[in-house]
Amino acid sequence: MSEPGRHTLPEGRPPEVEHCDRCHHRWLAKRGFCPRCGNDDTRMEAVPGEAVVHAVTVVHRAVQESAIGPAPYRIVLAKLDTCPEVTIMALAPEAVEIGEPVTVTRHGADGAPYLALP
Ligand SMILES: [Zn+2]
Repeated sequence: MSEPGRHTLPEGRPPEVEHCDRCHHRWLAKRGFCPRCGNDDTRMEAVPGEAVVHAVTVVHRAVQESAIGPAPYRIVLAKLDTCPEVTIMALAPEAVEIGEPVTVTRHGADGAPYLALP
């Protein structure tokens, strides 16, 4: 059974990170320069969405509906397996626990909303 609102999201794609060609640092939001070394020779790359849940918050009351429907819903911080320095904030339609493996997908043109599925 799908969660309310979830079917309205565009199809999920793998997360994209920006990569510095000088120091090989990676980060989530596109900046056009490296926050570590200042280099502006960067590129975007799609990375696998396999991740581990680092934190979970259950939102019981919200000002507005989330991309997957009204409260209650879960917000997850997940660290990507291939880039552990990158933490993604994602909505979780199903219950997940800290330390649990999830797959993170992006559903917006620039990334968010992200979903984390067991
Ligand atoms: Zn750099």
